[in-house]
Amino acid sequence: MTQITTDAVHAGRENLHAAPRPHVPQLDLSSTYPLPDIDGAARSLSDLAGGAASAENPVYARLSNPTVAGFECALAKLEGAEEAVAFASGMGAITGCLLAARLRGAGHVVAVRPIYGGTDHLLESGLAGLDVSFTSASETDIQAAMRPDTGLVLLETPANPTLALADIAAVVSAAGDVPVLVDNTFATPILQNPIELGASLVLHSATKFLGGHGDAVGGIVAADSDWCASLRQVRIATGAILHPLAGYLFHRGLQTLPLRVKHAQESARTLANRLLEHPAVEQVFFPEFDAVWESLSQHQMRGPGALVSFEVAGGQAAARAALHSLRLMTPAVSLGSVDTLIQHPASLTHQIVSDEGKDQGGISDALLRLSVGLEDVDDLWADLAQALDARSTFKIAASA
Ligand SMILES: *Cc1c(COP(=O)(O)O)cnc(C)c1O
Repeated sequence: MTQITTDAVHAGRENLHAAPRPHVPQLDLSSTYPLPDIDGAARSLSDLAGGAASAENPVYARLSNPTVAGFECALAKLEGAEEAVAFASGMGAITGCLLAARLRGAGHVVAVRPIYGGTDHLLESGLAGLDVSFTSASETDIQAAMRPDTGLVLLETPANPTLALADIAAVVSAAGDVPVLVDNTFATPILQNPIELGASLVLHSATKFLGGHGDAVGGIVAADSDWCASLRQVRIATGAILHPLAGYLFHRGLQTLPLRVKHAQESARTLANRLLEHPAVEQVFFPEFDAVWESLSQHQMRGPGALVSFEVAGGQAAARAALHSLRLMTPAVSLGSVDTLIQHPASLTHQIVSDEGKDQGGISDALLRLSVGLEDVDDLWADLAQALDARSTFKIAASA
Protein backbone atom coordinates (compact mmCIF):
# COMPACT_ATOMS: atom_id res chain seq x y z
CA MET A 1 0.00 0.00 0.00
CA THR A 2 1.39 3.36 -1.03
CA GLN A 3 0.75 6.62 0.87
CA ILE A 4 -1.77 9.25 -0.23
CA THR A 5 0.98 11.69 -1.28
CA THR A 6 2.36 9.02 -3.63
CA ASP A 7 -1.11 8.12 -4.91
CA ALA A 8 -1.91 11.79 -5.51
CA VAL A 9 1.04 11.96 -7.93
CA HIS A 10 0.76 8.54 -9.60
CA ALA A 11 -2.92 7.49 -9.52
CA GLY A 12 -4.58 7.39 -12.91
CA ARG A 13 -1.18 7.40 -14.67
CA GLU A 14 -0.44 3.67 -14.45
CA ASN A 15 -0.86 3.03 -18.17
CA LEU A 16 1.72 5.73 -18.96
CA HIS A 17 4.61 3.58 -17.83
CA ALA A 18 4.66 1.26 -20.84
CA ALA A 19 7.25 2.72 -23.27
CA PRO A 20 7.24 4.56 -25.59
CA ARG A 21 4.42 6.57 -24.03
CA PRO A 22 4.34 10.24 -23.01
CA HIS A 23 5.32 11.05 -19.44
CA VAL A 24 2.13 12.98 -18.57
CA PRO A 25 -1.55 12.20 -19.19
CA GLN A 26 -2.71 13.22 -22.66
CA LEU A 27 -5.33 15.81 -23.38
CA ASP A 28 -7.81 14.25 -25.82
CA LEU A 29 -10.17 16.92 -27.15
CA SER A 30 -11.94 14.74 -29.76
CA SER A 31 -15.69 15.20 -29.89
CA THR A 32 -16.04 12.02 -31.95
CA TYR A 33 -13.95 8.92 -32.75
CA PRO A 34 -13.45 7.10 -36.05
CA LEU A 35 -15.56 3.90 -36.14
CA PRO A 36 -14.14 1.63 -38.84
CA ASP A 37 -15.82 -1.45 -37.34
CA ILE A 38 -19.54 -0.66 -37.14
CA ASP A 39 -20.47 -3.77 -35.16
CA GLY A 40 -17.75 -3.10 -32.58
CA ALA A 41 -18.86 0.54 -32.42
CA ALA A 42 -22.49 -0.45 -31.88
CA ARG A 43 -21.39 -2.70 -29.03
CA SER A 44 -19.31 0.11 -27.48
CA LEU A 45 -22.24 2.51 -27.76
CA SER A 46 -24.65 0.15 -26.09
CA ASP A 47 -22.15 -0.68 -23.30
CA LEU A 48 -21.53 3.00 -22.57
CA ALA A 49 -25.21 3.96 -22.72
CA GLY A 50 -25.85 1.18 -20.20
CA GLY A 51 -23.38 2.79 -17.79
CA ALA A 52 -20.11 0.94 -18.54
CA ALA A 53 -16.95 2.75 -17.36
CA SER A 54 -15.18 2.22 -20.67
CA ALA A 55 -15.58 0.48 -24.00
CA GLU A 56 -13.41 -0.57 -26.94
CA ASN A 57 -14.19 2.73 -28.65
CA PRO A 58 -15.20 5.96 -26.78
CA VAL A 59 -17.57 6.65 -29.75
CA TYR A 60 -18.54 10.23 -28.81
CA ALA A 61 -17.32 12.73 -26.21
CA ARG A 62 -20.64 12.84 -24.33
CA LEU A 63 -20.30 9.10 -23.70
CA SER A 64 -16.67 8.75 -22.66
CA ASN A 65 -13.33 10.58 -22.69
CA PRO A 66 -9.91 9.14 -21.83
CA THR A 67 -8.53 12.34 -20.22
CA VAL A 68 -11.56 12.65 -17.93
CA ALA A 69 -11.30 8.90 -17.18
CA GLY A 70 -7.71 9.43 -15.93
CA PHE A 71 -8.92 12.05 -13.44
CA GLU A 72 -11.80 9.77 -12.39
CA CYS A 73 -9.46 6.82 -11.70
CA ALA A 74 -7.15 9.03 -9.68
CA LEU A 75 -9.88 10.55 -7.50
CA ALA A 76 -11.48 7.13 -6.95
CA LYS A 77 -8.12 5.87 -5.67
CA LEU A 78 -7.66 8.83 -3.30
CA GLU A 79 -11.18 8.31 -1.89
CA GLY A 80 -10.83 4.53 -1.60
CA ALA A 81 -13.77 4.07 -3.99
CA GLU A 82 -14.23 1.56 -6.80
CA GLU A 83 -14.89 4.23 -9.43
CA ALA A 84 -15.71 7.90 -9.92
CA VAL A 85 -17.82 9.90 -12.40
CA ALA A 86 -17.00 13.51 -13.29
CA PHE A 87 -19.54 16.21 -14.15
CA ALA A 88 -19.53 19.71 -15.64
CA SER A 89 -19.71 21.34 -12.19
CA GLY A 90 -20.25 20.48 -8.54
CA MET A 91 -23.95 21.30 -8.98
CA GLY A 92 -24.02 19.08 -12.07
CA ALA A 93 -22.63 16.29 -9.88
CA ILE A 94 -25.27 16.87 -7.19
CA THR A 95 -28.01 16.89 -9.83
CA GLY A 96 -26.52 13.68 -11.22
CA CYS A 97 -26.72 12.03 -7.79
CA LEU A 98 -30.34 13.11 -7.27
CA LEU A 99 -31.39 11.84 -10.71
CA ALA A 100 -29.45 8.60 -10.20
CA ALA A 101 -31.28 8.15 -6.88
CA ARG A 102 -34.58 8.63 -8.76
CA LEU A 103 -33.47 6.12 -11.37
CA ARG A 104 -32.97 3.72 -8.45
CA GLY A 105 -36.47 4.31 -7.07
CA ALA A 106 -36.15 7.27 -4.69
CA GLY A 107 -39.11 9.62 -4.20
CA HIS A 108 -37.68 11.52 -1.24
CA VAL A 109 -34.33 12.61 0.15
CA VAL A 110 -33.16 13.82 3.54
CA ALA A 111 -30.65 16.68 3.70
CA VAL A 112 -28.71 17.79 6.76
CA ARG A 113 -28.44 21.58 7.16
CA PRO A 114 -26.34 23.67 6.78
CA ILE A 115 -25.39 22.64 3.26
CA TYR A 116 -24.02 24.55 0.26
CA GLY A 117 -26.52 27.26 -0.80
CA GLY A 118 -26.83 25.92 -4.34
CA THR A 119 -27.60 22.42 -3.05
CA ASP A 120 -30.14 23.80 -0.58
CA HIS A 121 -31.82 25.72 -3.39
CA LEU A 122 -31.81 22.80 -5.84
CA LEU A 123 -33.43 20.57 -3.24
CA GLU A 124 -36.00 23.13 -2.16
CA SER A 125 -36.90 24.06 -5.76
CA GLY A 126 -38.18 20.54 -6.48
CA LEU A 127 -36.46 20.69 -9.89
CA ALA A 128 -35.06 17.19 -9.45
CA GLY A 129 -38.54 15.80 -8.82
CA LEU A 130 -37.84 14.61 -5.28
CA ASP A 131 -39.48 15.53 -1.99
CA VAL A 132 -36.99 16.75 0.60
CA SER A 133 -36.84 16.90 4.39
CA PHE A 134 -34.20 19.12 5.94
CA THR A 135 -32.90 18.04 9.35
CA SER A 136 -30.09 18.60 11.80
CA ALA A 137 -27.26 16.06 11.99
CA SER A 138 -28.78 14.46 15.11
CA GLU A 139 -29.51 10.76 14.72
CA THR A 140 -33.06 11.07 16.08
CA ASP A 141 -33.87 13.93 13.68
CA ILE A 142 -32.54 11.93 10.74
CA GLN A 143 -34.46 8.81 11.73
CA ALA A 144 -37.65 10.86 12.17
CA ALA A 145 -37.27 12.33 8.67
CA MET A 146 -36.98 8.95 6.93
CA ARG A 147 -39.82 7.70 4.70
CA PRO A 148 -40.26 4.35 2.97
CA ASP A 149 -39.30 6.00 -0.35
CA THR A 150 -36.25 7.86 1.00
CA GLY A 151 -33.45 7.10 -1.45
CA LEU A 152 -30.59 9.28 -0.27
CA VAL A 153 -29.32 11.21 2.76
CA LEU A 154 -27.18 14.25 1.90
CA LEU A 155 -24.58 15.52 4.31
CA GLU A 156 -21.77 18.05 4.22
CA THR A 157 -19.01 18.01 6.84
CA PRO A 158 -17.32 20.38 7.47
CA ALA A 159 -20.39 22.24 6.23
CA ASN A 160 -20.51 25.34 4.09
CA PRO A 161 -20.32 28.08 5.43
CA THR A 162 -20.18 27.53 9.22
CA LEU A 163 -17.78 24.55 9.17
CA ALA A 164 -20.25 22.66 11.39
CA LEU A 165 -19.09 19.07 11.84
CA ALA A 166 -21.14 15.90 11.73
CA ASP A 167 -20.16 12.36 12.63
CA ILE A 168 -20.37 10.53 9.30
CA ALA A 169 -20.50 7.02 10.82
CA ALA A 170 -23.35 8.10 13.13
CA VAL A 171 -25.34 9.56 10.21
CA VAL A 172 -24.72 6.37 8.20
CA SER A 173 -26.03 4.32 11.10
CA ALA A 174 -29.10 6.57 11.50
CA ALA A 175 -29.78 6.22 7.75
CA GLY A 176 -29.92 2.41 8.01
CA ASP A 177 -30.20 0.91 4.52
CA VAL A 178 -30.50 4.28 2.81
CA PRO A 179 -27.27 5.38 1.07
CA VAL A 180 -25.52 8.48 2.43
CA LEU A 181 -23.87 11.05 0.17
CA VAL A 182 -21.12 13.15 1.74
CA ASP A 183 -20.07 16.40 0.08
CA ASN A 184 -16.35 16.23 0.89
CA THR A 185 -15.41 19.48 -0.90
CA PHE A 186 -14.12 21.21 2.25
CA ALA A 187 -12.13 18.31 3.72
CA THR A 188 -10.73 16.91 0.45
CA PRO A 189 -9.62 13.24 0.29
CA ILE A 190 -6.42 14.32 2.06
CA LEU A 191 -8.22 14.95 5.36
CA GLN A 192 -11.30 12.71 5.24
CA ASN A 193 -12.46 9.59 3.36
CA PRO A 194 -16.22 9.17 3.95
CA ILE A 195 -16.42 5.78 2.17
CA GLU A 196 -14.23 4.25 4.90
CA LEU A 197 -16.86 5.47 7.37
CA GLY A 198 -19.76 3.83 5.54
CA ALA A 199 -20.87 6.57 3.11
CA SER A 200 -22.02 5.30 -0.31
CA LEU A 201 -21.22 8.40 -2.36
CA VAL A 202 -18.53 11.07 -1.95
CA LEU A 203 -18.88 14.27 -3.89
CA HIS A 204 -16.48 17.12 -4.66
CA SER A 205 -16.84 20.46 -6.31
CA ALA A 206 -13.55 19.95 -8.17
CA THR A 207 -13.64 23.70 -8.85
CA LYS A 208 -12.31 24.15 -5.33
CA PHE A 209 -9.33 22.30 -3.80
CA LEU A 210 -8.94 19.50 -6.40
CA GLY A 211 -8.23 21.96 -9.21
CA GLY A 212 -6.81 24.40 -6.70
CA HIS A 213 -5.85 27.22 -9.08
CA GLY A 214 -9.22 28.85 -9.71
CA ASP A 215 -9.17 28.12 -13.45
CA ALA A 216 -11.61 25.25 -14.03
CA VAL A 217 -15.17 24.35 -13.02
CA GLY A 218 -16.18 20.73 -12.44
CA GLY A 219 -17.59 18.14 -10.06
CA ILE A 220 -16.96 14.48 -9.31
CA VAL A 221 -18.65 11.65 -7.41
CA ALA A 222 -16.81 8.56 -6.12
CA ALA A 223 -18.84 5.44 -5.32
CA ASP A 224 -19.14 1.72 -6.00
CA SER A 225 -19.39 0.45 -9.58
CA ASP A 226 -23.14 0.02 -9.38
CA TRP A 227 -23.84 3.63 -8.37
CA CYS A 228 -21.27 4.85 -10.89
CA ALA A 229 -23.08 2.99 -13.67
CA SER A 230 -26.30 4.84 -12.73
CA LEU A 231 -24.40 8.14 -12.59
CA ARG A 232 -22.93 7.57 -16.05
CA GLN A 233 -26.38 6.75 -17.45
CA VAL A 234 -27.66 10.05 -16.06
CA ARG A 235 -24.61 11.91 -17.36
CA ILE A 236 -25.07 10.57 -20.87
CA ALA A 237 -28.80 11.33 -20.85
CA THR A 238 -28.48 14.85 -19.45
CA GLY A 239 -25.17 15.80 -21.07
CA ALA A 240 -23.59 17.21 -17.89
CA ILE A 241 -20.11 16.03 -18.92
CA LEU A 242 -16.80 17.48 -17.77
CA HIS A 243 -14.75 19.15 -20.50
CA PRO A 244 -11.48 17.24 -21.12
CA LEU A 245 -9.36 20.36 -20.54
CA ALA A 246 -10.92 20.73 -17.09
CA GLY A 247 -10.35 16.99 -16.50
CA TYR A 248 -6.69 17.48 -17.43
CA LEU A 249 -6.31 20.44 -15.06
CA PHE A 250 -8.02 18.59 -12.17
CA HIS A 251 -5.83 15.51 -12.64
CA ARG A 252 -2.77 17.76 -12.60
CA GLY A 253 -4.13 19.57 -9.53
CA LEU A 254 -4.38 16.29 -7.58
CA GLN A 255 -0.61 15.90 -7.70
CA THR A 256 -0.06 18.91 -5.42
CA LEU A 257 -3.29 18.51 -3.42
CA PRO A 258 -1.64 17.02 -0.28
CA LEU A 259 0.99 19.78 -0.16
CA ARG A 260 -1.48 22.59 -0.83
CA VAL A 261 -3.98 21.36 1.75
CA LYS A 262 -1.37 20.88 4.47
CA HIS A 263 0.27 24.25 3.91
CA ALA A 264 -3.02 26.19 3.75
CA GLN A 265 -4.28 24.31 6.81
CA GLU A 266 -1.26 25.43 8.88
CA SER A 267 -1.92 29.05 7.92
CA ALA A 268 -5.66 28.65 8.60
CA ARG A 269 -4.88 27.38 12.11
CA THR A 270 -2.63 30.38 12.77
CA LEU A 271 -5.23 32.85 11.46
CA ALA A 272 -8.08 31.17 13.37
CA ASN A 273 -6.14 31.46 16.64
CA ARG A 274 -5.23 35.10 15.99
CA LEU A 275 -8.85 35.90 15.10
CA LEU A 276 -9.94 34.47 18.46
CA GLU A 277 -7.86 37.17 20.16
CA HIS A 278 -9.01 40.07 17.97
CA PRO A 279 -11.41 42.49 19.69
CA ALA A 280 -13.44 43.06 16.49
CA VAL A 281 -14.24 39.34 16.20
CA GLU A 282 -17.16 37.86 18.13
CA GLN A 283 -16.93 34.22 17.22
CA VAL A 284 -14.56 32.01 15.24
CA PHE A 285 -15.65 28.79 13.55
CA PHE A 286 -12.82 26.36 12.88
CA PRO A 287 -13.11 22.56 13.13
CA GLU A 288 -10.49 22.40 15.89
CA PHE A 289 -12.62 24.73 18.03
CA ASP A 290 -15.72 22.53 17.67
CA ALA A 291 -16.89 20.56 20.72
CA VAL A 292 -16.87 17.31 18.71
CA TRP A 293 -13.38 17.82 17.26
CA GLU A 294 -11.73 15.77 19.98
CA SER A 295 -13.70 12.67 19.04
CA LEU A 296 -13.92 13.23 15.25
CA SER A 297 -10.18 13.79 14.94
CA GLN A 298 -9.71 10.27 16.33
CA HIS A 299 -11.58 8.46 13.56
CA GLN A 300 -12.89 10.85 10.91
CA MET A 301 -10.75 13.89 10.09
CA ARG A 302 -6.97 13.99 9.84
CA GLY A 303 -6.86 17.79 10.06
CA PRO A 304 -9.16 20.82 10.31
CA GLY A 305 -8.70 22.06 6.73
CA ALA A 306 -8.07 25.48 5.24
CA LEU A 307 -11.34 27.33 5.90
CA VAL A 308 -12.11 29.63 8.79
CA SER A 309 -15.42 31.44 9.32
CA PHE A 310 -15.93 34.24 11.82
CA GLU A 311 -18.51 36.74 12.99
CA VAL A 312 -17.54 40.38 13.06
CA ALA A 313 -18.72 42.57 15.94
CA GLY A 314 -21.16 45.12 14.54
CA GLY A 315 -23.10 42.75 12.28
CA GLN A 316 -23.61 42.90 8.54
CA ALA A 317 -22.41 46.51 8.03
CA ALA A 318 -19.18 45.82 9.89
CA ALA A 319 -18.58 42.53 8.08
CA ARG A 320 -19.04 44.24 4.71
CA ALA A 321 -16.84 47.17 5.76
CA ALA A 322 -14.04 44.77 6.69
CA LEU A 323 -14.35 43.08 3.28
CA HIS A 324 -14.03 46.43 1.52
CA SER A 325 -10.82 47.26 3.38
CA LEU A 326 -8.90 44.13 2.34
CA ARG A 327 -5.96 44.69 -0.01
CA LEU A 328 -4.30 41.28 -0.38
CA MET A 329 -7.14 38.81 0.09
CA THR A 330 -9.59 38.61 -2.79
CA PRO A 331 -13.21 39.30 -1.90
CA ALA A 332 -14.80 36.55 -3.99
CA VAL A 333 -16.93 33.44 -3.74
CA SER A 334 -15.38 29.98 -4.27
CA LEU A 335 -12.62 28.45 -2.16
CA GLY A 336 -9.68 26.09 -2.19
CA SER A 337 -7.55 28.22 -4.50
CA VAL A 338 -3.86 29.09 -4.25
CA ASP A 339 -4.91 32.64 -3.31
CA THR A 340 -6.92 33.57 -0.23
CA LEU A 341 -10.60 34.26 -0.87
CA ILE A 342 -13.12 35.79 1.52
CA GLN A 343 -16.85 36.34 1.19
CA HIS A 344 -20.08 37.23 2.99
CA PRO A 345 -22.29 34.08 2.82
CA ALA A 346 -25.58 35.79 3.78
CA SER A 347 -25.26 38.12 0.74
CA LEU A 348 -23.58 35.73 -1.69
CA THR A 349 -23.19 31.92 -1.51
CA HIS A 350 -26.18 31.46 0.80
CA GLN A 351 -28.29 34.42 -0.31
CA ILE A 352 -30.71 32.02 -1.98
CA VAL A 353 -31.29 30.02 1.23
CA SER A 354 -34.60 30.82 2.96
CA ASP A 355 -34.51 32.75 6.26
CA GLU A 356 -35.64 29.59 7.99
CA GLY A 357 -32.79 27.67 6.34
CA LYS A 358 -30.28 30.35 7.38
CA ASP A 359 -31.54 30.14 10.98
CA GLN A 360 -31.43 26.33 10.93
CA GLY A 361 -27.89 26.42 9.54
CA GLY A 362 -26.65 29.21 11.86
CA ILE A 363 -25.76 31.55 8.96
CA SER A 364 -25.76 35.04 10.49
CA ASP A 365 -25.41 38.44 8.80
CA ALA A 366 -22.12 39.05 10.61
CA LEU A 367 -20.46 35.91 9.21
CA LEU A 368 -17.47 36.00 6.85
CA ARG A 369 -15.99 32.85 5.29
CA LEU A 370 -12.27 32.77 4.66
CA SER A 371 -10.58 30.24 2.36
CA VAL A 372 -6.90 30.40 3.19
CA GLY A 373 -4.43 30.15 0.30
CA LEU A 374 -0.70 29.71 0.01
CA GLU A 375 0.49 33.27 0.68
CA ASP A 376 2.77 33.99 3.65
CA VAL A 377 0.67 33.76 6.80
CA ASP A 378 2.02 36.98 8.31
CA ASP A 379 1.14 38.91 5.15
CA LEU A 380 -2.37 37.44 5.36
CA TRP A 381 -2.72 38.38 9.02
CA ALA A 382 -1.47 41.92 8.42
CA ASP A 383 -4.17 42.35 5.75
CA LEU A 384 -6.94 40.86 7.88
CA ALA A 385 -5.94 42.82 11.00
CA GLN A 386 -5.87 46.16 9.17
CA ALA A 387 -9.28 45.40 7.62
CA LEU A 388 -10.75 44.54 11.03
CA ASP A 389 -9.23 47.69 12.50
CA ALA A 390 -10.69 49.72 9.62
CA ARG A 391 -14.03 48.13 10.45
CA SER A 392 -13.75 49.44 14.02
CA THR A 393 -13.13 52.94 12.63
CA PHE A 394 -16.15 52.45 10.38
CA LYS A 395 -18.26 51.50 13.38
CA ILE A 396 -17.20 54.58 15.29
CA ALA A 397 -17.82 56.76 12.24
CA ALA A 398 -21.23 55.13 11.68
CA SER A 399 -22.32 55.65 15.27
CA ALA A 400 -21.00 59.21 15.42
C1 LIG B 1 -18.94 25.15 -4.60
C2 LIG B 1 -19.59 24.04 -3.92
C3 LIG B 1 -20.52 23.23 -4.60
C4 LIG B 1 -20.96 23.50 -6.02
O1 LIG B 1 -19.90 23.31 -6.92
P1 LIG B 1 -19.78 24.09 -8.33
O2 LIG B 1 -18.54 23.52 -8.91
O3 LIG B 1 -19.70 25.56 -8.00
O4 LIG B 1 -21.01 23.79 -9.11
C5 LIG B 1 -21.06 22.15 -3.91
N1 LIG B 1 -20.73 21.88 -2.63
C6 LIG B 1 -19.85 22.66 -1.95
C7 LIG B 1 -19.51 22.31 -0.54
C8 LIG B 1 -19.26 23.75 -2.57
O5 LIG B 1 -18.39 24.51 -1.88
